[in-house]
Amino acid sequence: MARKTFIAGNWKMYTSSAEAVKLAEALDAGLMRTDVDVAVFPPFLWLTIVAETLGQSDIAVGGQDCHAEKEGAFTGSISPAMLLAADCTYVILGHSERRHGLNETDDVLNKKLKGALAAGLQVIFCIGELLAEREANKTEAVLDTQLTAGLAGLTAEQMTKVTIAYEPVWAIGTGKVATTEQAQTAHAFVRAKIAKLFGETTAEAVRIQYGGSVKADNAAALLSQPDIDGALVGGASLKADQFLAIIAAAPK
Ligand code: PEP
Repeated sequence: MARKTFIAGNWKMYTSSAEAVKLAEALDAGLMRTDVDVAVFPPFLWLTIVAETLGQSDIAVGGQDCHAEKEGAFTGSISPAMLLAADCTYVILGHSERRHGLNETDDVLNKKLKGALAAGLQVIFCIGELLAEREANKTEAVLDTQLTAGLAGLTAEQMTKVTIAYEPVWAIGTGKVATTEQAQTAHAFVRAKIAKLFGETTAEAVRIQYGGSVKADNAAALLSQPDIDGALVGGASLKADQFLAIIAAAPK
């Protein structure tokens, strides 16, 4: 089954509101591919204005995180319903900057995933190994644990709303991109694991993005790999021309 390429731009804690609007306008004006799913993930405060700017555009909007609960005394948090009210289709969960920077555990992420799916969001669920783990030949063990624990209790039906982003932590924001072989090997492992957890049909349908220093000049090689179905892009998603060039590099 052909999987539609999915390119996502994680703006992290960058852009002013004016810059966010300008970036969204430039992406909307420059998007030439209707055969690629595209989403941007601005800072929470600019979600509404970016969604308004994109209007009826094919570019979807998502949040960079959300809480597991519907509402409550959780100072500083954003609920899945609040993201939906801000016209979000997606949420990113488990980004390494939250797993490792903010100590979000597999258990916390599993709860967030269930909360987001129950509310009606689609999820980009990030996994990936640290450099020390790769060097100790533990990449597959780490991915196995993150998938087993992170996806625990989900149904095959719910998995149709989940995209996995394989992001080796040592490649995020460092300019060190995984080789196409390293990325493809990890993606094939992830797909095989999803098949074990949810069956072959689901595994064939689930999209697996690569993330980690994806740029216009390495995107085509990565995206041509059989198990790489898209990219989660950080730095290069902040420049419209670079992000559009990555989208243009998707196989036709
Ligand atoms: C990311 O933020 O998920 C990411 C992959 O960042 P970068 O593209 O800058 O490495």
